Amino acid sequence: MAGTFHFDAEDRSNAFITRVESATFGDGRLAGIPLAVKDNISTRGMQTTCGSRILEGYIPPYDAHVVELLREEGAAIVGKTNLDEFGMGTTTENSGFGPTTNPHDPARVPGGSSGGSAAAVAAGMVPMALGTDTGGSIRCPAAFCGIVGLKPTYGRVSRYGLIAYSNSLEQIGPMGRSVADVGTLMEVICRHDARDSTSYDRGYAHAPSGEIRGMTIGIPAEYFGEGVDPAVAECVRDAIATLESAGAIVEECSIPSMEYALAAYYVTCTSEASSNLARFDGVRYGPGVGTKRSWHDEFQEFRGEHFGREVQRRVMLGTFALSAGYYGKYYAKAQVAKENVRRDFLRVLKSVDVIAGPTMPTIAFRFGEKSDPLSMYLSDVLTVPANLAGVPAISVPCGRVEGMPVGLQIIGQHFADEVVVDVAFAFEQEGPA
Ligand code: GLN
Repeated sequence: MAGTFHFDAEDRSNAFITRVESATFGDGRLAGIPLAVKDNISTRGMQTTCGSRILEGYIPPYDAHVVELLREEGAAIVGKTNLDEFGMGTTTENSGFGPTTNPHDPARVPGGSSGGSAAAVAAGMVPMALGTDTGGSIRCPAAFCGIVGLKPTYGRVSRYGLIAYSNSLEQIGPMGRSVADVGTLMEVICRHDARDSTSYDRGYAHAPSGEIRGMTIGIPAEYFGEGVDPAVAECVRDAIATLESAGAIVEECSIPSMEYALAAYYVTCTSEASSNLARFDGVRYGPGVGTKRSWHDEFQEFRGEHFGREVQRRVMLGTFALSAGYYGKYYAKAQVAKENVRRDFLRVLKSVDVIAGPTMPTIAFRFGEKSDPLSMYLSDVLTVPANLAGVPAISVPCGRVEGMPVGLQIIGQHFADEVVVDVAFAFEQEGPA
């Protein structure tokens, strides 16, 4: 049933940076399904900007592994979605192409950094989309926009063709209106790829059963602590009670290293970003530089003009953390804290099947509500631990507060992506829409 898909949906949320009017599709499991791809994932022949003016007009000569797989299954790729520049943000306000708005309330952010993908799905423009998650960028916008989003186990989906932000933490993952859709997309994109040295040979073939009788769910005290809006906590506790009445056994647990998770995350991601973004010097990609002055002057001016403020802030922070004399104090320490978080998760996940809590401490913010970087960073506290530990985590809608969606987060053991999907599926069958 190969053919052409005409994509004329109105984009009221500014969800897309680039979109096509018609997309061709082939045969396969995704035949004719319109799919949106986050704009930090390379698409051959289609502009890929990472939400940055520095890459405006860049057209990759190759497809990311996940995009090859989508095409093989017949998907119609209808466009590239908006994001915080290079994935650095929690709201999609940091895009060089204007912010995306939340389809549930245009005065509020859609979450980030995969805010365009989440808004496109939530607004009904596409049934599914790809996002990326370095510290919550799939789960946060899924929670804020009332859709489902999965961050797979680190290494389960190839990063070949993903333009790197913080490569030791990030994964590409599926976003969709239902858990079943997210599972279908995961089945397509989870395939070994020799071009990514961290890619495991563990495919994903799974039909969720929704049977959770006898399964144990750990509830970490730290996920309901300071900074978590009581109304959000209550909504999530109700969701956990729903899982309990479906036969799951709920246990309290603790992840003491959570205290250091946010600091470890921000030192790691800014350090890796400062190194990964060094290649954007105006010579090889983007609008280009003049040749009149020294390379150093050109480089400085070009990056100063074309990188947004948040990217500049993070490159500076990361360069500082990696510099001689400070490396041991910051980067090396962050790696120790990262290992402690991983150990804590693995210890807890030996005695319970999954861990559950809120995805985000609050509902979607109003535009401008968080103006200082630190309070913005703090809102990632419940999502970054799964990236530090490398474990799979899903966000599934579990109700509303002030009319805005709330996400239930379910975290599992390494390679237990199927298990977190199963629990989310069970909840979706039982819980409120
Ligand atoms: N909000 C986090 C950050 O700004 C996570 C971003 C992401 O997962 N790409 O780094």
